[in-house]
Amino acid sequence: MSNFADEAFFLSIDGKTERGVSSAPIINPAWGSAFAEAPVASEAQLDAAVDAARRAQPDWARRSWDERSHLVSAIGDIIADHAEALAPLLTREQGKPLPDALAELRRAADWCRGAATLRLQDRVIEESPERRSVTRRVPIGVVGAIAPWNSPISLAAWKFAPALLAGDSVILKPSPFTPLTTLRLGELIQAILPPGVMNVISGDDRLGPLMTAHPGIDKISFTGSIETGRKVMESAARTLKGVTLELGGNDPAIVLPDANVDRIVPELFWAAFRNSGQICIAAKRMFVHEAIYDRVAAGLAAFASTVPIGDGLQPGVQLGPVQNLQQFERVRALIQETQASGYRLLAGGMPPNGQQGYFVPVTLVDDPPDEATVVRQEAFGPVLPLLRFRDEDEVVRRANATEFGLGATIWSEDESAALELGNRLRCGNLWINEAMHATPFTPFGGHRQSGVGVENGLEGLLEYTLSQTISVRRRCSRADAAAPPPA
Ligand code: NAD
Repeated sequence: MSNFADEAFFLSIDGKTERGVSSAPIINPAWGSAFAEAPVASEAQLDAAVDAARRAQPDWARRSWDERSHLVSAIGDIIADHAEALAPLLTREQGKPLPDALAELRRAADWCRGAATLRLQDRVIEESPERRSVTRRVPIGVVGAIAPWNSPISLAAWKFAPALLAGDSVILKPSPFTPLTTLRLGELIQAILPPGVMNVISGDDRLGPLMTAHPGIDKISFTGSIETGRKVMESAARTLKGVTLELGGNDPAIVLPDANVDRIVPELFWAAFRNSGQICIAAKRMFVHEAIYDRVAAGLAAFASTVPIGDGLQPGVQLGPVQNLQQFERVRALIQETQASGYRLLAGGMPPNGQQGYFVPVTLVDDPPDEATVVRQEAFGPVLPLLRFRDEDEVVRRANATEFGLGATIWSEDESAALELGNRLRCGNLWINEAMHATPFTPFGGHRQSGVGVENGLEGLLEYTLSQTISVRRRCSRADAAAPPPA
């Protein structure tokens, strides 16, 4: 297995690979030290990517839908063919265990192949002897896709697959923390796409703002934090770019008293802690009915003690480190504040001093008050508050008492009772007796501060298009000729 230290990574601009103007060290979060260098693109290289994308887009849009669909699906084949080779790189830069890295790459491959089967229909608005009016969807132009560090490949595929299918060209920017696998895929994809259709550039903190402000980019599709999402929207407003924003979540999981505790404990655990809690739709506030609270709490604590944490490249490891030092410090501070406030922990606690890597033990907080930071804030790390509730009105009120509105899960043996409760939750995605199920055909988006717009499914595809209505007048009646034109 390569250790990547002596490998070079390149930007992909206009179908060619390029070095950056400088390079930045990429940290392996399991070691807390650098293992490779990533290219840093300059503003001039961003301009070159935008120029290439603008030049390539009209021809790309003129290709038939079937042709584009075939190529988007072929991107999926490329990702699938290279998934095994790329998974160790993804683990090294992101930290997730190797099987999860492989699963992410395969999911991205399936995403491309699945999204490629989507179709948009023209809509006939009027069909009369006088006129035929048809509304159709046309590409937007150049899409800037900005991805986060928690699932760099799958969340990038959520953007570039539908954008390319719709006839847009793309400039994809991975997070500065996790650019390498994306850059490598960018290089591989050039083999099948016309130059300039898909550009992949990485850089430092200046690159994202330059993209959102760039007059040559027509749309921004962004996944990341609420704080940055606000900046993206503000910056895009100056050139009136459309935005799709997939932002943070503080998803409630609600465990009803009839839930089968033994069966669901592992599922609840993974709903909260997969990828060390660094998933936007992870369960982040777990409300458990008082009748079963103690059993669920004990079950989760016991399960946590069985899950191996370590370097994701080691066999058997199921949870890796937190992805970067900044996030590690944030999670550490959250645990510190939780303990200083006197809230009891059922598992975990402060990471040991002097350890190598950004490892945080799975931390369960025993029924802190709703005002506690650990309840109000998205931890985005392996820290979960368990919250005791008595009745449904109470849990609905508490679950909805947040600025977030991304997802929610409900766990119960009674499907219709769960659905009835779920109807009262304010969120974009509700799962009953499962968590995080997503497909290329399932619209996904956040309510309230958790996002603007939708990704995936037909609704997601529409966000990479504009509406265009064409009216053809067939016969000029006397009344038409006399009528004044509309104001
Ligand atoms: P982040 O907001 O720090 O960064 C996301 C991306 O934006 C990175 O590529 C970054 O370089 C870029 N960026 C930073 N500042 C920018 C600016 N001013 N203008 C333009 N781009 C800028 O987010 P993150 O820390 O990488 O990801 C974690 C957050 O993402 C969490 O809040 C998580 O809930 C959220 N998230 C949401 C979803 C979703 O689908 N809703 C999915 C995954 C993660």
